[in-house]
Amino acid sequence: MTTYPPFGAGLWNFAAYVDRYATDGYGDPRGTLEQIRLAGEVGELSFVDLNYPFSPGVTTDAVARALAEAGLRAIGVTPDIYLREHAKGAFTNPDGAKRASARAIMDGAADAVRALGAKYVKIWPGQDGFDYPFQADYAELSRLAVDGMADLANAHSDLKFVIEYKPREPRTHMFWGSAAKTILGIQRMGVGNVGVLLDFGHAMFGGESPAESAQLLIDHGLLWGMDVNDNYRGWDDDMMVGSLHWVEALEFFHVLRKNRWEGVWQLDQFPFREEPVENARLSIRFLKTLWRALDALDDAALAAAQERQDALAATRIAQDAIFAAGAGGN
Ligand code: FE
Ligand code: FE
Repeated sequence: MTTYPPFGAGLWNFAAYVDRYATDGYGDPRGTLEQIRLAGEVGELSFVDLNYPFSPGVTTDAVARALAEAGLRAIGVTPDIYLREHAKGAFTNPDGAKRASARAIMDGAADAVRALGAKYVKIWPGQDGFDYPFQADYAELSRLAVDGMADLANAHSDLKFVIEYKPREPRTHMFWGSAAKTILGIQRMGVGNVGVLLDFGHAMFGGESPAESAQLLIDHGLLWGMDVNDNYRGWDDDMMVGSLHWVEALEFFHVLRKNRWEGVWQLDQFPFREEPVENARLSIRFLKTLWRALDALDDAALAAAQERQDALAATRIAQDAIFAAGAGGN
């Protein structure tokens, strides 16, 4: 019997979505508790990352009860600091009152992390950045982003924070846009409780090798969380993991295993038109296959191939591992 790693999902995997075309949404809106119930229905998930604030009227106690009923635990809480009010940024908003209101939401998320016993506050400052040339003073942007994050971390020194970087969308340029830039920013903060959540898809559409970025973050002691999904590399499509990039996904998880990285394998996917429970199940089916592929991977032969930087041998070894893992599972 194979023992698999713990699986998780952003609770938004079970939400209904709006975009700039279907402004009436792709389905009826679902509240926090309904999303938790659907996440529990997957049957494969142990953890969820929750958006904060919860839907109107839903208390942290009610969330804790719903999680227990669904057999789930909170891994993270993600403050919604990227909505209309913070369209020009949360940390880097030019308006101090808006920076303060974003901070209040983040302080609330920190309290929710404590109450739910979650591992971290996940910061995704989606609106922090710029769109046009000459729009921003880069030194000021950088100062606000780094100092604001350091202040937040210092105010909650009992907690951990992770920054999820992404190259663009909704801004044409997001401040926390790459693995390397995020490491540099965290180093400037001079704090010990801020790390990185690497989203496989963000690394890919940012032109990174997700496996290499994972190693870079591990080497700096900063890989504290991870999201998986898939995309065509031109955009953050948030498709099912394993729908496109099998070999790069295997390499990513190979690097994690090689470094004995232990954490939750989390889905961050947006099934706009797909049924969300089956979407998550099929994704986890693929993650389990990758796990078995890692068991089948000939590590010694791969190490020897890498010593020669032998691309042909390495490709054959990776393919053999995937084929050996076979079909099956649920
Ligand atoms: Fe993500
Ligand atoms: Fe994303």
